[in-house]
Amino acid sequence: MYATRFMDDQFSLSLFGDEAPIPVLVRREIDGPDWLKAYDADVPTEILDLRDRGAVFIVNHSGGKDSQSMYAFVRRHIPDSQIKVVHAVLPEVEWDGVQEHIESTIVHELHTCRSRRTLLEMIEERGMFPSPSMRQCTSDLKRGPIERTIRQMGDKLIVNCMGMRAQESSNRSKLAPLKLSERNSKNGREWHEWLPIHSWEVKEVFSMISLAGQKPHWAYEKGMSRLSCVFCIMASKEDLTIAARHNPVLYKRYVELEISTGQVMLMPSKKHGRLTLEQVTGVPAGIEEKVGVHRVIPIRDARVIAEEVEEFDLEFC
Ligand code: SF4
Repeated sequence: MYATRFMDDQFSLSLFGDEAPIPVLVRREIDGPDWLKAYDADVPTEILDLRDRGAVFIVNHSGGKDSQSMYAFVRRHIPDSQIKVVHAVLPEVEWDGVQEHIESTIVHELHTCRSRRTLLEMIEERGMFPSPSMRQCTSDLKRGPIERTIRQMGDKLIVNCMGMRAQESSNRSKLAPLKLSERNSKNGREWHEWLPIHSWEVKEVFSMISLAGQKPHWAYEKGMSRLSCVFCIMASKEDLTIAARHNPVLYKRYVELEISTGQVMLMPSKKHGRLTLEQVTGVPAGIEEKVGVHRVIPIRDARVIAEEVEEFDLEFC
């Protein structure tokens, strides 16, 4: 049990006398409610061994609630000197103030990266939206640039920390909380992937943020359940509706892309078939019909359809 180990560490430190430096993490570990201490105790021994071997822990930070609470939790167990924070910037399509929010809630330098093409450029060039099954957006916009940045940092023993949680989807519940990345373990590099808050519930995520004396990004106050891309191809109807109301310019851009590509952003469902963003949200984008230009689908009463559409049960990124 980690609690026992912690007590041993504290005891052994006293053998070095008053001059022995007391790691910051020792003080952090003793605070917190019981549910948090239970998660402390569940941190895999492999992680503690990797920490003791000097591994660098890379926190993937999207600016969302899961990243924010994961960072606070990782700091309970890993010395600050062994933590780095990376954010994949999503130009044009992420919520206002994401980067500033991350910087105001971390004590580390924020390493940023971005893909060569933006999501909107990708859609324009391909003439279609990314699909949930392929998720080119996740690999091109996030995973690829972040992994490239980590490799460029040059560390040889790496623990890549990501904020996925089992509660989010059945696919996510099947993910291994800790595994070796064979794909990235090459050229003398040992690369592990750790999901520090995999078993956490959403209420614990928000509690951790509050215990850290912080607030989540302002979009949560508006009712969003997730952050990331403002208009995610797998977002719920509620999130898309809130996003449309608070980001009218970007919303209009997505609706225009649906019209120009002849595609819809969301996957068709068995129950509702193909629906445009306007049909799902019931929020008009304010695009005037032009002679000779037809919308992809004849718009039924958007408000009626919006009331019928249920949450999409899909995995997020
Ligand atoms: S948040 Fe959604 S749209 Fe954005 S990269 Fe992830 S899956 Fe794609």
